[in-house]
Amino acid sequence: MNDKGIVFNNNAKKIAFDDEHYEMMMSRYDFFMQNVKNRSNYYANIDLEKQRAFNIRSKAFKKLDKLLVDFDTNFTQNGGNLLWANDSDEAKKMIYDILNQNKAKKIVKTKSFTIEEIGLISYLEMKKIKVVDTNIGDFVCSVSNETPYNFKSSAAHKTTEQIADLYTNKFGIKENCNAKQLTAFTKNVLRNDIYNPEVIITGANFLVSNTGTIVLTENEGNILKSSTFAPIHIVIAGIDKMITSMDELGVLLPLSSLYDSNNNISSLYTFINKPLTQDDKVQKLYLILLNNNRTNILSKDKQRNILSCVQCGACLEVCPIYNTVGGHTYEEYNPGPVGSISLPLLKNIEETSHFCSLCTLCGRCSEICPVNIPLKDLFLENRKDLIKLDKSLVGERNFLSNIMKKMINRKNLDKYGAGFKDMELSYFIKKKWGSKRELPKFAKESFSEYWKNINNIK
Ligand code: SF4
Repeated sequence: MNDKGIVFNNNAKKIAFDDEHYEMMMSRYDFFMQNVKNRSNYYANIDLEKQRAFNIRSKAFKKLDKLLVDFDTNFTQNGGNLLWANDSDEAKKMIYDILNQNKAKKIVKTKSFTIEEIGLISYLEMKKIKVVDTNIGDFVCSVSNETPYNFKSSAAHKTTEQIADLYTNKFGIKENCNAKQLTAFTKNVLRNDIYNPEVIITGANFLVSNTGTIVLTENEGNILKSSTFAPIHIVIAGIDKMITSMDELGVLLPLSSLYDSNNNISSLYTFINKPLTQDDKVQKLYLILLNNNRTNILSKDKQRNILSCVQCGACLEVCPIYNTVGGHTYEEYNPGPVGSISLPLLKNIEETSHFCSLCTLCGRCSEICPVNIPLKDLFLENRKDLIKLDKSLVGERNFLSNIMKKMINRKNLDKYGAGFKDMELSYFIKKKWGSKRELPKFAKESFSEYWKNINNIK
């Protein structure tokens, strides 16, 4: 197993049997499932709508070369500056160069998958640029020196009481504040940065090719306000964010927030067509289009579908592995099914091969995904790739092929009694099964014996 896999296993062993953590995850799960139930009648035919979303994204991937060129033409004609970054390092350097040219010493950022993907925050801090998180969950994490718990709800692991204690210790506010008071306090701390930013850096939810439009969604209002007042707006987005036309947003936007906890639909949408003008000053608008191995994913007929992800977070909430080990155990910006599939494709597969095993193939992620990504099948595709590369799963493959040889023949399987089978299972599995769980026992009567008995077959 790769080094990161060993770290994952060690982290998982600690957290998986932490009762407090498990209860927190289960209460989130119950809350989420209640939302799913409440939203079940929003569409006359939700399956059809999901399939429409899937088709829109698949169609865009097939003609991405044309969409990118059209977007470039339209965005540039509208007054934006488009930069192409092949990888994370190039993207970070481009951002730093823009900040340097404009003598900017402080940036405000909003919640963004892509900002986390390229590791921008630590890079800028190393370059002595101050970074202010304007998303409330991200702000809580930065105050407590933690990474976001997941890409959807950064502070999902913290209770209101824990945040109240954190704020009392860090800012000296009165003890035991409630959620409303904590939110008001956070907004007040961030007010000046949100209304007077030197530079704002955001991601993008979608990029509309035929108009050159950047689409951003949010619930808090920090993106809308900061991007309105900032003299410089830098957007970083993957090339996969491209869609053909505004009409498609009618399908994609409501589905992106279908299972959001508090709102039926995202509270605010920002559409940026061109740099803003205020008091005769024209905002500088940059868009960095990031590849970072996406062209490799796009070359794979099936796995390319993972790029359709709208980062709604639903697959995390129903994943038994994520719900057992939690977000921080993954030590990545995108834990859960979507990250476990995309990270081996985006990064060096040898260093991330352990993610391919983080799936029980229960299929609940595929069922819940609002854009119909067949996540379970994509896990299998990644596993096939790994086996082809012979980089991993060799032991598992040999083990399973031995079991198969025995199991293919019923007579072989029934040659020995339940006690012997228990012993064999324990010999091969016990170590991996861990010391805190009981291995299930074989039934005294095998299925074929049972079947023969009830049907009087001799
Ligand atoms: S893979 Fe599907 S369910 Fe999971 S975050 Fe992406 S869009 Fe949501």
